Amino acid sequence: MSDWTDTIDALIDYLRFQQENGTRDAPFSPDILKRLGVIAPAPVAAVPLPAALPQPVALPPLAADRRPSTADHRPPTPPPPLPSKSPADRRAALERIAEQAAACSRCPLAGTRTRVVPGQGNPNSPEILFIGEAPGQDEDAQGLAFVGKAGKLLTQMIEAMGFSRDEIFIANICKCRPPDNRPPSPEEMQACIPFLQAQIAVINPKVIVTLGATAAKGLLNAQTAISKLRGHWTLYGDIPLMPTFHPAYLLRFPPAKHDAWSDLKSVLKRLDRPVPQQNKNPTVT
Ligand code: SF4
Repeated sequence: MSDWTDTIDALIDYLRFQQENGTRDAPFSPDILKRLGVIAPAPVAAVPLPAALPQPVALPPLAADRRPSTADHRPPTPPPPLPSKSPADRRAALERIAEQAAACSRCPLAGTRTRVVPGQGNPNSPEILFIGEAPGQDEDAQGLAFVGKAGKLLTQMIEAMGFSRDEIFIANICKCRPPDNRPPSPEEMQACIPFLQAQIAVINPKVIVTLGATAAKGLLNAQTAISKLRGHWTLYGDIPLMPTFHPAYLLRFPPAKHDAWSDLKSVLKRLDRPVPQQNKNPTVT
């Protein structure tokens, strides 16, 4: 690798770090932009959104213990309740949501996806529901959430907490892969969020952990930088929610693993689970 590519990689990491921390502009002289050959992107066509929630996610009514409370962020649209909370009912409800997402074309990502990625794991009131932003290349190919490099780190984080992936649930804000792994647009997130809301109502997790700025913004409608949101408990309805960094960001910027592990230990305390010793923290390896 040349000095140039090292420099460019470092610059990309720096800019992504700034983006994660909420920076939305960077000063470049016209001369530098000209040398870089920057071309203004074509304007993105507005996504026509239906006025109402998609029929596909119309589930049976939400249980009384999941009514939105006085969260300081946008309250979720309550999906209808389940008739019962048996494991079979939950699995059947999740399969319906997955089928409906597979048939969905509410946003332009339907035209570029290979497979819809609804998410997977324990649907029966798991201790934790992890929520990322959207599938990447590996997830798009396999139809499973968090199976690439970032997924491997997430698995390490989950196991460091004393869980297996089968014991918790993993999903994304958007169920289809954005081209070139770009973050989903606000319109795409708005179009897709009813699927996640329906999944949360069915799964009924004890705690939600959002991974990265996009997931926190998509679920909470928060405009605060992830570096300020992370580590602080909030509520989604009446479900405790902890925002932390995305594993992909931790791979690019390993010093942030310390903060992420601190957030996960806070989750363990909230769940009244044993907190592993610091020297057994695999997220720093
Ligand atoms: S991302 Fe969501 S809203 Fe867009 S097409 Fe896929 S399932 Fe539908």
